[in-house]
Amino acid sequence: MRRDDAVVSLGEHASPILPLRRAGESVGLTDLYCKDEGALPTGSFKARGAAVGISRARELGVQRFAMPSNGNAGSAWSLYAARAGMQAIIVMPAVSPTIHRTQCLLAGAKVVLVDGLINDAGRLVSRACAKGGVYDASTLKEPYRIEGKKTLGFEIAEQFEWNVPDVIVYPTGGGVGLIGMHKAFRELQAIGLLGPALPHFIAVQSCGCAPIVKAFRERRDVSQPWDGASTVAFGINVPKAIGDFLVLRILTETGGSAIAVDDEDILEYQERLAKHEGVLASLEGAATLAAVAQARKLGTIGAGERVLIINTASGALHSESACPPIETLGVDDELQIARDH
Ligand SMILES: *Cc1c(COP(=O)(O)O)cnc(C)c1O
Repeated sequence: MRRDDAVVSLGEHASPILPLRRAGESVGLTDLYCKDEGALPTGSFKARGAAVGISRARELGVQRFAMPSNGNAGSAWSLYAARAGMQAIIVMPAVSPTIHRTQCLLAGAKVVLVDGLINDAGRLVSRACAKGGVYDASTLKEPYRIEGKKTLGFEIAEQFEWNVPDVIVYPTGGGVGLIGMHKAFRELQAIGLLGPALPHFIAVQSCGCAPIVKAFRERRDVSQPWDGASTVAFGINVPKAIGDFLVLRILTETGGSAIAVDDEDILEYQERLAKHEGVLASLEGAATLAAVAQARKLGTIGAGERVLIINTASGALHSESACPPIETLGVDDELQIARDH
């Protein structure tokens, strides 16, 4: 960025890092933390990429852009675009959660649904943008979103007082956040603010869509497209990530790993984060705690290691989470409190 007047802001701030004492105990860890990105503008860490991506696009004179999204990126970019006075065109899988498309529409974006998954949405965007007149804001096709994601790494380093955690556990779809954190740490090393030890990165996916986990296990440099991808954690329902080779390289380079978790475990750990810690986590964020539990059982993570999970969005964005039946009283009924407790 060269021009301050092009900067588009919704009041970005450092998201909190919360110690998770009870949740840590329950999975056998003494030093577990959560970076809670649900507290950011637009409710998800996608605000980081959007704040920088939209600001730079505005500086470049972009008036209209298109991008594929599973949900949170679409809402973040639509809202920042609205603030910048730019037209957003968001292409989403028809099966994506409806709450996100409502948010895009509220912000005045044009929303197109595709009878397919995020990769199909990406192909539609590429073809449309190739004709000209529309800026392609797809992940890793414009170089600025990743610069915004770097702030996640800068904050972690600063909040841990330049002693990065031993392990960082990240719910991985396209892997942009992980690539951004790694780039940030490398840059901090280059200017002497971080020592030589980088955290081990653990990429978490759902068993219903785990191309990166499969490729990591098979020691491949790139992933194969995942057939029939499906998971409750829709933000990580990415059958083939454009930057898969970067993610796989980072996992190997940092002595990290890749873990797939069941949807039932994701739901269980979402409840655990709320009940034990008061953290209203997204399903993607909850997947990281499920993965930590698994890694502890397998010994991949040691009991004394300092572990940071990333809750990438607020749990408030899951409108269709099942709510069990709750007793309804008449307005004149007695509310029996003492008896139940
Ligand atoms: C987009 C998203 C992810 C995955 O992010 P990538 O950087 O693409 O891997 C994880 N969680 C939530 C809530 C998301 O919206």
